[in-house]
Amino acid sequence: MPPATDSPAPASTAPATSTAAATALAAPAAATSEAPAAAKPEIQFRSDVTVELVRSSAHDSDVLFAARVSTQGEQTLEAAQDADLDTSRSKGLINYLMRDRHGSPFEHNSMTFYVQAPIFVFREFMRHRIASYNEESGRYRELNPVFYVPGPDRNLVQVGKPGAYEFLAGSPEQTELAVSEAQRVATEAYASYQRMLDAGIAREVARIVLPLSIYSSMYVTVNARSLMNFLSLRTKREGTHFPSFPQREIEMCAEKMEDFFATLMPLTYAAFNENGRVAP
Ligand SMILES: Cc1cc2nc3c(=O)[nH]c(=O)nc-3n(C[C@H](O)[C@H](O)[C@H](O)COP(=O)(O)OP(=O)(O)OC[C@H]3O[C@@H](n4cnc5c(N)ncnc54)[C@H](O)[C@@H]3O)c2cc1C
Repeated sequence: MPPATDSPAPASTAPATSTAAATALAAPAAATSEAPAAAKPEIQFRSDVTVELVRSSAHDSDVLFAARVSTQGEQTLEAAQDADLDTSRSKGLINYLMRDRHGSPFEHNSMTFYVQAPIFVFREFMRHRIASYNEESGRYRELNPVFYVPGPDRNLVQVGKPGAYEFLAGSPEQTELAVSEAQRVATEAYASYQRMLDAGIAREVARIVLPLSIYSSMYVTVNARSLMNFLSLRTKREGTHFPSFPQREIEMCAEKMEDFFATLMPLTYAAFNENGRVAP
């Protein structure tokens, strides 16, 4: 029987900057003009994203109990938790709900992710309104000098038409240019940010010079229904009923979230794929 309460968080794999989100809502630091100068952090360049499942209460049985009250008209939670999920009846019900787009039974669960990604990714992320977000503040804390640069596997050349672009590998010269320009601009911008902070200018003003490639951190909480909507739009897969063409960097986040979802709710995940990855 799956636990009815929140499942524990897996071991953290967060890099050194992961405490940022945890402290984001703490009281704003006092004015630093008289404080001793702290050592300035080294600029870092990353080509990956961090996604950790920090808390969840999400099981296939959550879908079953919510759906079964419809026909049984009585408490169905305990029976669903005790039920053998590996039955054709359970699989069949979840598949029917997915296929016929009875979406609300997929809402009685919760997954909270901790994400580190560049701000241009967060900008796309937060268009997904059926989710709860809390992000580190560029007003209450000095932003860490961590910036995104395209990795060696990142395709650089766009072909095709709007709405259905394909991306091909860049030449060695294009790869070198993309990385060196991203690094140069980030380095110059962060130096400018530091000069303004050192001159006593507020963080909320100084940050206006920072590029969208700077990393931020957030918690995002979703249920399976909204996550499937997110995955249907932010991943590119063969056989999808409504193909999507997402930016690769948000797809990197989506792929990691999808792996957690597949483990937590395998029947729901299988039905999602079998029905063309259409959110119910
Ligand atoms: C490849 C791609 C390219 C994009 N390009 C652009 C772009 O150029 N410009 C741009 O502005 N955006 C763009 N977007 C963002 C896109 O338009 C959506 O805002 C984003 O994908 C969130 O989708 P959503 O509204 O379904 O998600 P959510 O906000 O999580 O909503 C989930 C579902 O809830 C329902 N819902 C939520 N809010 C409302 C509401 N107010 N009224 C009615 N129903 C609601 C809808 O059924 C919706 O599908 C792009 C997205 C993708 C995937």
